Amino acid sequence: MARRKKIYEGKAKILYEGPEPGTIVQYFKDDATAFNAEKKDVIDGKGVLNNRLSEFFMNGLTQIGVPTHFIRRLNMREQLVRSCEIVPLEVIVRNYAAGSMSKRLGIAEGTQLPRPIVEYCYKDDALGDPLVTEEHIAAFGWASQQDMDDILSLALRVNDFMSGVMLAVGIRLVDFKIEIGRVYEGDFQRLIIADEISPDSCRLWDIETGQKLDKDVFRRDLGSLTDAYSEVARRLGVLPKSNVSKPTLIN
Ligand code: C5P
Repeated sequence: MARRKKIYEGKAKILYEGPEPGTIVQYFKDDATAFNAEKKDVIDGKGVLNNRLSEFFMNGLTQIGVPTHFIRRLNMREQLVRSCEIVPLEVIVRNYAAGSMSKRLGIAEGTQLPRPIVEYCYKDDALGDPLVTEEHIAAFGWASQQDMDDILSLALRVNDFMSGVMLAVGIRLVDFKIEIGRVYEGDFQRLIIADEISPDSCRLWDIETGQKLDKDVFRRDLGSLTDAYSEVARRLGVLPKSNVSKPTLIN
């Protein structure tokens, strides 16, 4: 069988050339990294859960008219996505203070913010994805003013959708990160949600107990990451019914 062409290998995913032009196969690995890969581990089943959860969120976004790169899930670890040019920004939306914002501004974790706050980081591992302002983004040409207006609107729509979906299953969406892709249609360019949306890129806290159900479980050694992600998947009805109590995570 012909080998697929690997396009890129990141910390949690591998991208292969897709079967048709303009498509990419996104493979979810079990590797977990934190603090810019200073902390690493392999978490059995994480890739399977994130593949399913990202499919669930991207499909939901499509249904409410938010464009994403997702085409279809191929198997337990892979999904077919639209090829796009990634805008070199990590777009973070925060509803409650946590993580780097709490550290930077001295605001206690869990403090509700007066309104959702959107931040931009420049995507560069060597620099540790530094926080940047719209001034940097415009001056260095990473995105145009029109792009920034569209990105802000997309980010807030994703926030509304994700907050509602999570609230319905007793989970607080504290914050999350998305990445944006550019696709070209004739003379036009469109921005779409790319990469993944999963507990790797969100902070999710149980509303009743405050229990963390996201990658902070790994970052802060709070227990089993698979159990936390399985709980999110179980509440959202993403895991098959027969696997509700103890999911079987196979390749
Ligand atoms: O670390 P910080 O508080 O800035 O993270 C904000 C949100 O963005 C968290 O949900 C975190 O998981 C996510 N994030 C990410 N990838 C990064 C940085 C942050 O998914 N490189």
